[in-house]
Amino acid sequence: MDNCIFCKIIAGDIPSYKIYEDDDVYAFLDATQVTKGHTLIVPKKHFRNIFEMTGDELATVTAKIPELANLIKDKMHADGMNIMSNLEAAAGQSVFHTHIHLVPRYKGDTGVEETFFREKPMADPALLEGIQKEILG
Ligand code: AMP
Ligand code: ZN
Repeated sequence: MDNCIFCKIIAGDIPSYKIYEDDDVYAFLDATQVTKGHTLIVPKKHFRNIFEMTGDELATVTAKIPELANLIKDKMHADGMNIMSNLEAAAGQSVFHTHIHLVPRYKGDTGVEETFFREKPMADPALLEGIQKEILG
């Protein structure tokens, strides 16, 4: 879809720190890293959000969650994870292409719930590159 930043990422027109890709799904590091390893899983096909998807269409995305969640948890030595999707601006959606947030949680981390729904600074590219290597290495 024209003018969709995630469609451009999937097409390779905008760079991303890719964690996983197959025919249906693309996963990449969130540019803001609410916690280290914060990843987005998106369907390659454009949908505005889950309100616009069938169960089967969503299932192609959610089917990848256990494998990716465990990979990120293990490689980042996380203690837990929040998995969430924001549907519409009223719920905090800012990019209107379906995505599921995987937010690793670490014992003792603070402020995550508060910062998740606020405007967050972009992470340093060197940090993103390091995290990508940690997860894929
Ligand atoms: P939401 O606010 O739930 O719609 O989530 C959108 C997420 O996309 C935010 O956490 C942003 O940090 C993230 N984001 C926006 N642009 C990019 C980008 N170019 N690369 C990686 N993540 C992005
Ligand atoms: Zn899109």
